[in-house]
Amino acid sequence: MPSIFTQIINKEIPCYKIAETDQFIAFLDINPNAKGHTLCVPKQEINKIFDMSEKLYLDLMCFSREVAIALEKTVPCKRVGVSVIGLEVPHVHVHLIPLNDMKQMTFQHKETQSEGELNALAKQIANNLV
Ligand code: 5GP
Repeated sequence: MPSIFTQIINKEIPCYKIAETDQFIAFLDINPNAKGHTLCVPKQEINKIFDMSEKLYLDLMCFSREVAIALEKTVPCKRVGVSVIGLEVPHVHVHLIPLNDMKQMTFQHKETQSEGELNALAKQIANNLV
C-alpha cells in the first residue's frame, strides 16, 4: 500500500501544495502545530531519512531550506524550526514549523485553520519562493 504522501504525490489525495520539483514536494501539514507548518517530502518512498543516499538527503535539505526561507518571509515567527521525528507516516518528511513558542515543537499544540485560509497561505508561501 503506497504511503499517504505517495498518494498525495500521485494526486490521488489533495494537498495545499507550496513547491514541487522532479524529486521533492512541499505542502502544508493537515494538522499543523503552528500556522505554516509544512512538510518537505521526497517523491521516492523511503521510510527512514538516514537510509536515503547522501545525495538525496543533501538535496532534500537544500529543497527544505528554500521552502523555509519562503515560509519565514510569509509567516511572522521568531524562526523556522526543523524536525524529522514521527512514527505516523513511514515516508521521509521534514517538518518546517514557524515558531513563536517552543510548545509549537511538541506536536501537542495544534492550530485550526479553514480550508480557505490553508489555500491562501500555501499560495502566499509559494509566491515568496525565489
Ligand atoms: P510524523 O510521521 O512525523 O509523526 O507526522 C506525520 C505528519 O503528517 C503529521 O504532522 C500529520 O499531521 C501529517 N499528515 C498525515 N496525513 C496527512 C495528509 O493526508 N495530508 C497532509 N497534508 N498531512 C498529513
